[in-house]
Amino acid sequence: MTDYISTLNEPQRQAVLHGDGPLIIIAGAGSGKTRVLTYRISHLIEKGVDPFRILSLTFTNKAAGEMRHRIESVVGTEARNIWMGTFHSVFAKILRIEAKALGFTSNFSIYDTDDSKSLLRSIIKEFGLDDKIYRANVVFSRISGAKNRLVGPADYLANPLIQTDDAAARMPEIGRIYKAYTMRCFQANAMDFDDLLFNTNVLFRDHLDILNKYQHKFKHVLVDEFQDTNVSQYLITRKLSAVNQNICVVGDDAQSIYAFRGANIENILNFEKDFPDVRTIKLEQNYRSTKTIVNAANSIIARNRAQLRKSVFTDNEDGTLIEVIKAASDNEEGRLIATSLFEAKMQDGLHNTDFAILYRTNAQSRAFEEALRRLNIKYRIIGGLSFYQRKEIKDLLAYLRFTVNQSDEEAFKRIINLPKRGIGDTTVAKIAVVASENQVPIWEVVSNVNKYVAGRAGIAIEAFADLIKSYQLLLDKKDAYDVAAHVAKTSGILKELYDDKTVEGLSRYENVQALLNSIKEFVDNPDNDDKSLSAFLQVVSLLTSADEKDDDGDNDKVTLMTIHGAKGLEFRNVYIVGLEEDLFPSQMMLESRADLEEERRLFYVAITRAEKKLTVSYADSRYHYGRLKVCEPSRFLMEIDPAFLKVAKTRKAEREESQELKRDTPAGGSMSFVRSLAQKTAKQQAPQPTVAHTPSSDFAPSDTSKLAEGMRVEHLKFGFGLVQKIDQNGNDRKAIIKFETAGEKTLLLSFAKLKIV
Ligand code: ATP
Ligand code: MG
Repeated sequence: MTDYISTLNEPQRQAVLHGDGPLIIIAGAGSGKTRVLTYRISHLIEKGVDPFRILSLTFTNKAAGEMRHRIESVVGTEARNIWMGTFHSVFAKILRIEAKALGFTSNFSIYDTDDSKSLLRSIIKEFGLDDKIYRANVVFSRISGAKNRLVGPADYLANPLIQTDDAAARMPEIGRIYKAYTMRCFQANAMDFDDLLFNTNVLFRDHLDILNKYQHKFKHVLVDEFQDTNVSQYLITRKLSAVNQNICVVGDDAQSIYAFRGANIENILNFEKDFPDVRTIKLEQNYRSTKTIVNAANSIIARNRAQLRKSVFTDNEDGTLIEVIKAASDNEEGRLIATSLFEAKMQDGLHNTDFAILYRTNAQSRAFEEALRRLNIKYRIIGGLSFYQRKEIKDLLAYLRFTVNQSDEEAFKRIINLPKRGIGDTTVAKIAVVASENQVPIWEVVSNVNKYVAGRAGIAIEAFADLIKSYQLLLDKKDAYDVAAHVAKTSGILKELYDDKTVEGLSRYENVQALLNSIKEFVDNPDNDDKSLSAFLQVVSLLTSADEKDDDGDNDKVTLMTIHGAKGLEFRNVYIVGLEEDLFPSQMMLESRADLEEERRLFYVAITRAEKKLTVSYADSRYHYGRLKVCEPSRFLMEIDPAFLKVAKTRKAEREESQELKRDTPAGGSMSFVRSLAQKTAKQQAPQPTVAHTPSSDFAPSDTSKLAEGMRVEHLKFGFGLVQKIDQNGNDRKAIIKFETAGEKTLLLSFAKLKIV
């Protein structure tokens, strides 16, 4: 066993060793909050607390997995018994156990956002409302907002105050839609994501015996990323720890980035009111990042008015300056970042996993993907259109869902005519309406179809019902994999994809195989006691986009993700890209100071992911909704103290600058942002300027096999230089080159982008 206590600083040690009673740690990024939680749980178990009685809530399932793994290395396999996961996954588990109390059965389906919107569209249509006014997206987010504030349909309808915003004025029927939606979910034995928290609250509010059971079960409740819990989540944790008072929360108000989802900094402030005996511990030392990065991040966040003041310092090295890269277009931004990454990798002998490219929105990933692919650098995209959102995957999962839960209306709609059975949309809509009007499950109608639908469609539905019945018979006898493989084969899904010989068809077929493989893995994993299909579906429906893993077995990849997804993570070198007005800060978030401050916190989160080196970039133009748009550098760039910045100069800027200097124009005024920064940089970096080189426009690397001592070369980034020496070592041929501005560098010739001039 490692002596982990000795690796902690004093306040960290106090937090880990803190006995009973509420504890809150609000501290800056990289100060060891997550590490403290991990060791605190290990310590509790060592002291004899039963892992089954520890509840630990994390931001992603992946974070939970990592934490569990670390704890396991201290206390052994007992760590597997901790109740650990996201709020959604932990409370879905409790809801399954207690489903009866709420009138659900334990095999309820979990509707994803697409299912929810599809159901809303049906309801809007059935109500005869205009779907251009009642857009499913908007209605969905209204309902979601209400649930997160714990406002149920009855309260929503009864309290017009809740509805006095402009959207409500245009959409007076939202309350009625909300009510119908809730009813339909209930009939479908389904909960959406928000219901998992909403219904947990209802469960604990209306069933005190059940609440009491869990209050006593969980001796300790711990929450990471506490700043991003919403009211509904906070109430659950507060109730659960009301008896034992052993609640430990860690977070950073400066990293609160989910206000749009109802997360609320107020929770941090309320915590001290709700738990008057709370002990507060501050962590101030950052162990993750260089001084440059920590101080730059501090300089940014200091601009926010709404924050709890705290200091963050580090004893780490100063590190290199933050590099600013300016590109002419979004495509060039992709190329410049990929090249920079490639060179850093070669020069410092790094792995792909040392790098992350972080952006504000998923749509930005394309340019980076293309550029990385061209340089043969492997990457993984977290988020975006994820594996589980692909049509073929959702199709098979819908079959599996309907096999487990025959009330699942959305699963039914997806598969009833897949493969084609000649059942039209009208028939499908009719079945849903009949079920809803008679308040019976969909299955009731489907399995007695001759009462409701005549003709060919009726016969087809009967055949479908028989097929599903044959699947149901397997549920008790076979594990998740056997059932799924059987369903894939006999439902016709695999065959249809197999028969499609196009490239896309092939890749869809492979995706279904990949899903089956992952079910096999689930069944073979000794950590999973319950190998049933229903258990697998529960895990799958709660995966967040940050949880996905790659299937090609190669783990050395650059990570591409949104900043939201990067919370809690760390990478050696980080690129924050697209730093332009209206993109970051986002146009949608500029209505108020509160919005702007949230964007600034997001920028703070991004900066503080970097350990050694941070690069930020922006483009002068980019395509936006199909139109070329001229962009302005983000105000956030200007908010970083320029003492921490190094700007890559363009040739044009260099020329203009030297003219400006000749004319002795003072900085500021009409001078562009880039030039003024470049000047500051030049002053700061003398006598050895390290500005990056902008290659000639026709830069095409030469064949370096003929390279010899004394030759003059141009390098993509370091500029012009003289070859001092060539070194041959096995297959590695290296050149030592003295560059005019960048100094002496050793380059691997198989990788170096050089031109002999
Ligand atoms: P964030 O706010 O980004 O979630 P955090 O406060 O949770 O950050 P951690 O991720 O726990 O910080 O720690 C940041 C890094 O510093 C990790 O690599 C961790 O292992 C390291 N670290 C934390 N405390 C110490 C310590 N006392 N000694 C050495 N390294 C430490
Ligand atoms: Mg953390």
